[in-house]
Amino acid sequence: MDVHDPVTLAQALIRCPSVTPKEAGALLLIENLLEPLGFEVHRMTFSEPGTPDVENLYARFGQQRPNLCFAGHTDVVPVGKEDDWKLPPFAAKIQDGVLYGRGAVDMKGAIACFIAATARTLSKRGGIRGSVSLLITGDEEGPSINGTAKVLQWLSDRDERLDACIVGEPTCPDELGDMVKIGRRGSITGQLVVHGKQGHAAYPHQADNPIPKLVHILGNLSSTTIDEGSDRFEPTRLQTTIVSVPNTAANVIPAEARATFNVRYNDHWSRPTIETWLRDLCTTAASEAGASIELTFHGTGDVFFTQPGPLVDAMTAAVHGVTGKVPKLSTSGGTSDARFIQAHCPVIEFGLVNRTIHQIDEHCAIDDLQQLTTIYESMIEEYFA
Ligand SMILES: [Zn+2]
Repeated sequence: MDVHDPVTLAQALIRCPSVTPKEAGALLLIENLLEPLGFEVHRMTFSEPGTPDVENLYARFGQQRPNLCFAGHTDVVPVGKEDDWKLPPFAAKIQDGVLYGRGAVDMKGAIACFIAATARTLSKRGGIRGSVSLLITGDEEGPSINGTAKVLQWLSDRDERLDACIVGEPTCPDELGDMVKIGRRGSITGQLVVHGKQGHAAYPHQADNPIPKLVHILGNLSSTTIDEGSDRFEPTRLQTTIVSVPNTAANVIPAEARATFNVRYNDHWSRPTIETWLRDLCTTAASEAGASIELTFHGTGDVFFTQPGPLVDAMTAAVHGVTGKVPKLSTSGGTSDARFIQAHCPVIEFGLVNRTIHQIDEHCAIDDLQQLTTIYESMIEEYFA
């Protein structure tokens, strides 16, 4: 297999049916590509009760700093109805200049491009003034417990530092080069329970119906403007996502009503301040309604923003040099493993066009794979220049 050719590499990766948490040969393939290039490759399996074991890989070329890391995942989401695909999802067939397959854009394509870019750089220059590393997990689309977070801990434990990181998630909405992500909003989920007293619907004075109280609180949550956004981020927004009342009889007032809401918050907030704000709002609304409530929170990642600097500049220059586009530096969208990496080093995200991610007939243009490889190659060059 020609390690300089991203298309062959992407095809080989797609042919490993690595639906989370299966490794399915994908990490072994990467190991076999990187070792002959001179990378020191580590494979580690992490476990945690109640979650599947997950295989991960960390590989590094060079001993010097700075250490520029590429982070990604080989696991893919399920294919859905296989018969609905016009070409089989793990066959990696090319039709009219387009590569089809699960993981083509999210994100085996980008992994293939980065490996090819590194191989080309090493062939051309013979080495790098620093180190290049790859952190590849098999647990990004799943619970994300035995993946990137644990590899980062493993790196810290052996005093290995990352100085900058590119996450290869598909970031471009329309065309390759139109968007680089330089931050993400935080995400916090609240679970609200309103307690009442069960009783007969015909004798409401002997009961306490929690449903109107829950509705009052949710009404306040949904209609309150949290902020107007900041220079770098969209406004913070709250969405009620689950409402449930465990009741099976129409003539019974239930004892309890529950709701779940999710908030995507910007850099006006941190995890503790947004939690306090939400709790105060719920408590005030509950006392207006005379409701007794329980409120718990869990979060999946705090807000972060990567300041302009060598990493952002190198990527912007590389994208512009290859595509002629000036990428939008954005903080939109959902969370990714960048949420773990941001605590260790500056991190940005740049990859393929995300229009078909997680869909039937996921695909990317062969031209985009070639261009992304050239962008990564030029980015490596800019970064170490
Ligand atoms: Zn992904």
